[in-house]
Amino acid sequence: MENDLPPRVVWFKKDLRVVDHEPLYTASRFGTVLCLYIYEPELYREPYFSSSHLQAVHQALTQLKRELQRLGADLLIQIGESVDVLEKLQKTTGFTELLSHQETGTGATYERDLAVGDWCKENGVHWREWRQQGVIRALRQRAGWANQWQEYMSEACLPAPKHLQGYKMKAWGQPKSARSLGLTQPTQSGAALTNESEAHRTLNDFLQVRGEGYQSGLSSPVSAFDSCSRLSHHFTYGTISLRKVFQATKSRQEELRRLKASRPGSNEWLRSISSFSQRLRWHCHFMQKLESEPEIEFQNMARSYDGLREANHDIEKFELWKRGETGYPLIDASMRCLQKTGWINFRMRAMLMSFASYHLWLHWRPTALHLAQEFLDFEPGIHFAQAQMQSGTTGINAIRIYSPSKQVVDHDPSGKFIKAYLPELEALPAAYLAHPQKMPKELQNRLGIRIGKDYPAPVVDETVAMAKARSKFYRVKRSPEAKKEAGEIYQRHGSRRSPHRSKATHP
Ligand SMILES: Cc1cc2nc3c(=O)[nH]c(=O)nc-3n(C[C@H](O)[C@H](O)[C@H](O)COP(=O)(O)OP(=O)(O)OC[C@H]3O[C@@H](n4cnc5c(N)ncnc54)[C@H](O)[C@@H]3O)c2cc1C
Repeated sequence: MENDLPPRVVWFKKDLRVVDHEPLYTASRFGTVLCLYIYEPELYREPYFSSSHLQAVHQALTQLKRELQRLGADLLIQIGESVDVLEKLQKTTGFTELLSHQETGTGATYERDLAVGDWCKENGVHWREWRQQGVIRALRQRAGWANQWQEYMSEACLPAPKHLQGYKMKAWGQPKSARSLGLTQPTQSGAALTNESEAHRTLNDFLQVRGEGYQSGLSSPVSAFDSCSRLSHHFTYGTISLRKVFQATKSRQEELRRLKASRPGSNEWLRSISSFSQRLRWHCHFMQKLESEPEIEFQNMARSYDGLREANHDIEKFELWKRGETGYPLIDASMRCLQKTGWINFRMRAMLMSFASYHLWLHWRPTALHLAQEFLDFEPGIHFAQAQMQSGTTGINAIRIYSPSKQVVDHDPSGKFIKAYLPELEALPAAYLAHPQKMPKELQNRLGIRIGKDYPAPVVDETVAMAKARSKFYRVKRSPEAKKEAGEIYQRHGSRRSPHRSKATHP
């Protein structure tokens, strides 16, 4: 087993694919390649982590390793702190080039990257990083961002390398289950599969079959499972690149326009594809906020709202919300759906967050951390910015308080979704879906749905809680300090219209 020269090390992080992978493609053109994945136990102690995330990594790595073998290389799988692993690897291989994608992660992954950067400098290793999103590192100002995004997304996607000249090693290691890493077994039995071929299959299925109903079906949890693209966990683990999806979407859009010109008919497909394409930009628009201001993982984007909720953390209410036992059927069904599948649509996510922040008056940080654990697609840049937006602490977005009972009427009037996740409400008549507690006692007994016994009484009175929250909130929002701060925040983070998309809705 001989190697002539040290390899170029390609470090896979949240980019578990071979297609449109610039570090891998570049390395493949210049000689021997050593592909590396590191399980980092220090990250598993972070409060947003759950072993369900590792299940997705396991699935993606299993296929990635096979693909790399097919191309002539393999995937070295290590466990430990990145700097220690790289140091050991340098001793055995003498590598001086490290290639990877940039990561817009959490404070913990940022610290890890800083440590790796220092180690590289001290040990004569040249670390090259490539963008893998439309996110711009060290961005000076937001003006012009959308144009730069468009340019990046329009650059040609790279194919998988035709062949890899793999470095030779004795032992490569296998993808690890959560249990073999000493962690609890994942519980989300209904979670979607995460790997590169599944990502491409899902994209195709969406663009050719399911996508027509996107625009009309994305808000209801009854239709969203089929109508939405369901690509988010693939973006999170990088089993497909956003650029690949953007370009496939654009091609489909052009095809649909041609079809429409020759056979005028319904606009449903075109409307849906355009609305989906817009959201691909939102993905990076939100991530850019965390890239430019990492503090928003930990603190209110608008500091004028500091102190508003922090002291009020009611553990009991928090636990009921987490368990899906608030007495509001759509909240509880959404939470239990997350426990099982790791996914729920945007509208329900926004409702869960808004209910916790306004009705239960809980600060966004602990609730956002809980949702991060539940979301298979936890993406820090989108997640913390959205959590703050739905809690009103960004200073720049309109306040939106979702009523959990109105959402039932609007999005699950027959109770199909609610009853799928709350079997105890199977016999509940549609008229009481929004307010089961309003059922007469006699009916409760007859149906076996006794409020407070078979299904919880509402944790708070919706109308009273909403009015209280509104009044406390607007007291701050209308203050001169909050108004002044909002202007400053808009300069840092507000979206700017792109000349290409002058009619685009703002996120
Ligand atoms: C409180 C809260 C937390 C969220 N946390 C996450 C998260 O951790 N990870 C995550 O990927 N999304 C998050 N979202 C955004 C959104 O709900 C999901 O991206 C979407 O539901 C994923 O399903 P999909 O891929 O089928 O989406 P589609 O509707 O098919 O959209 C396609 C892609 O566009 C992007 N996108 C869609 N909606 C948004 C949005 N509102 N903001 C930013 N990007 C968007 C996502 O990358 C998504 O995969 C959060 C939303 C809220 C309200």
